[in-house]
Amino acid sequence: MQKLEQIYEGKAKKVFRTDEPSLFIVDYKDDATAFNGLKKGTIVGKGVINNQMTNYFMGLMEKAGIPTHFVQELSERETLVKKVSIVPLEVIIRNISAGSFAKHYGVEEGIVFDSPTIEFSYKNDDLGDPLLNEYHALALKLATQEEIDTIKKYAFAVNDVLKSFWKECGVTLVDFKLEFGKIEDGTIVLADEISPDTCRLWDSKTGEKLDKDRFRRDLGGVEDAYAEVMKRMRAHNGK
Ligand code: ADP
Ligand code: UDP
Repeated sequence: MQKLEQIYEGKAKKVFRTDEPSLFIVDYKDDATAFNGLKKGTIVGKGVINNQMTNYFMGLMEKAGIPTHFVQELSERETLVKKVSIVPLEVIIRNISAGSFAKHYGVEEGIVFDSPTIEFSYKNDDLGDPLLNEYHALALKLATQEEIDTIKKYAFAVNDVLKSFWKECGVTLVDFKLEFGKIEDGTIVLADEISPDTCRLWDSKTGEKLDKDRFRRDLGGVEDAYAEVMKRMRAHNGK
């Protein structure tokens, strides 16, 4: 597989074309941003951790019957994926109140919900990723009803898999963001990443934050937190 020209550089990853038109290579950077790019920094080693963690989770999802874009890990930071047309919706699942949920609804962080919530935002940096509901998504033709139904089903299934995995690692899964895409034939697959950049992860015993909130909120120990969750994942998997 030959890596051809870069077609996109995002905030956390670069995307390259390959000599196989249906496949892309994603390359994970150590760059970190928050607040829609207003805060910028570097988290040393993050790209390697996010690549390896995402790929492990994509494998778990495939086993659970959720199709993904994953093809093959090529190096510490590079992965071969199926080229998808990204559905421009950020899909957020929450098990516990935190972040923008706590802020919007004026509640403290840490309220455990009886059942998980789902919300969508329009993936559009210029507009600041505004929240929208299914009707808005349909009106804007961002997805069809059938696609939204599939995405919701997969997103809750991802939550079940992730929640029980992290529980076994002594980590509480608070919330996370997913992106889905469509491959050539229209099939919806899970794309992008699942990492401490896109999930809130709290130590089950101490409540310590082990994710990007350490960067967003200037809590310090950012690299250590990423290394800690990766270490727990490796220990869980006997590596
Ligand atoms: P952002 O665009 O938000 O800055 P990244 O730095 O993570 O995010 O860039 C990666 C980009 O690649 C994202 O826009 C994401 O939607 C897109 N992407 C992820 N997986 C695929 C895929 N399999 N095919 C095409 N694009 C993808
Ligand atoms: N999230 C993300 N990318 C975004 C917005 C949110 O990965 O552009 C993740 C975030 O890491 C958290 C979850 O989605 O795990 C919910 O984020 P929230 O809506 O609370 O937003 P934030 O507090 O990040 O503004």
